[in-house]
Amino acid sequence: MSSNIYDMVLLRLGSEITVKGKNRAKFERLLAEHVRRALRPYSNAVVKQTYGRLYVELNGHPYEDIAAALRDVFGLVSFSPVKRAEVDLESIQRTALEVFQANKQRKDTFKVTVKRGWKQFPYNSIEMNHLVASYVLRATPELKVDVHHPQVELQVDIQQGGAYIYCDVDKGAGGFPYGANGKGLLLLSGGIDSPVAGWLGMRKGLQLEAVHFHSYPFTSEQAKEKVVTLAKRLLYYTDGKLKLHLVPFTDIQTSFAQSGQERLIITLMRRAMLRITEKIAKREHAHAIVTGDSLGQVASQTLGSMNVIGRVTSLPILRPLVMMDKIDIIQLSERIGTYETSILPYEDCCTLFVPKSPTTNPNLEIVEATEASIDNLDAMIEQAVKNTVTVVLRSEDEAKPAINSDEDRWF
Ligand code: ATP
Ligand code: MG
Repeated sequence: MSSNIYDMVLLRLGSEITVKGKNRAKFERLLAEHVRRALRPYSNAVVKQTYGRLYVELNGHPYEDIAAALRDVFGLVSFSPVKRAEVDLESIQRTALEVFQANKQRKDTFKVTVKRGWKQFPYNSIEMNHLVASYVLRATPELKVDVHHPQVELQVDIQQGGAYIYCDVDKGAGGFPYGANGKGLLLLSGGIDSPVAGWLGMRKGLQLEAVHFHSYPFTSEQAKEKVVTLAKRLLYYTDGKLKLHLVPFTDIQTSFAQSGQERLIITLMRRAMLRITEKIAKREHAHAIVTGDSLGQVASQTLGSMNVIGRVTSLPILRPLVMMDKIDIIQLSERIGTYETSILPYEDCCTLFVPKSPTTNPNLEIVEATEASIDNLDAMIEQAVKNTVTVVLRSEDEAKPAINSDEDRWF
């Protein structure tokens, strides 16, 4: 049966949101905003708050189209297509059967759950459970009721203005609405990891700005373009706007290369990046730094390195990938649409200066002494912040990235 029978979509907020009672109103407002943005191409679809629930009125749009757009909205744990019935027994029974028949699951067992929000309705919820279930059973030979583990749960929500009937549940992206949990700065390189880290941060409700360090003219224009392309991919998951701070890093890198501490260069670079990022964070009112570090992946991501690198800033460093395997990170980057860009061959500023055997266990005192021995390091850091170019990317002109099929998404 066609799924065009539906009138609306019931949206369910993430379980994490329900816990945080007093912020709920703010989260709902943000979520409604993001849902509206995601549904902008569907001009007739309207987001509504009805009887304390968040709905989308389809107004003729096929449910599948709307579902595809909703799947990437953070803060939605799941959603269901709903059909509205008149508030009378016969109409509810007929519609319930129609919704049951349109359901995608196997239908050997089912149960009916009726909620009577409008207490004047002449049958109570237990009577209604029986009246609706028996009607569906009469029309469906072989079907059995299983109240404990039904394959299909047919739900009927009776309100004064209408009865809302649904049984399909589609999984949402989960997490928190974008921006619900404050702002962080994402260290965005051209690689596979950092865009994924950014996406995971956004999914947890972080508003992000991206910071990229380049060593132009040692690094090419294409390398910079690649980062802009990645940022544009991430833009799709934001509130429509993403700041990208492009920091000139050539002078600082060159001075590290001349410091005589070849094995510490990466440590020194990472610390300088964090110092600069902390200053940008202060200016932009951000309260965390997000990186694509994954434990043990390279020399700068051992515990010893993370410890010495992280000490340079008092801001929390969030590393969403720290416990993930590369293969899972790659899979996720494919799903969020950043992988193809990430694997383009252009060099990153760090690969240019990378020593043959970087230390995996830097000594903090030696690192600090080396930094103190470099003339003007503080001034160069100030200068880098000052010469940072900020681009504001906006999503209006960006098409949704090609995202893989939803069959095997883990979120
Ligand atoms: P990615 O795959 O994202 O490039 P990586 O595996 O190459 O990460 P590293 O090069 O050690 O790992 O970098 C670790 C993290 O440091 C990156 O995930 C990113 O957050 C940050 N980073 C590295 N290079 C840059 C850069 N040029 N600009 C901004 N951040 C960077
Ligand atoms: Mg990498």
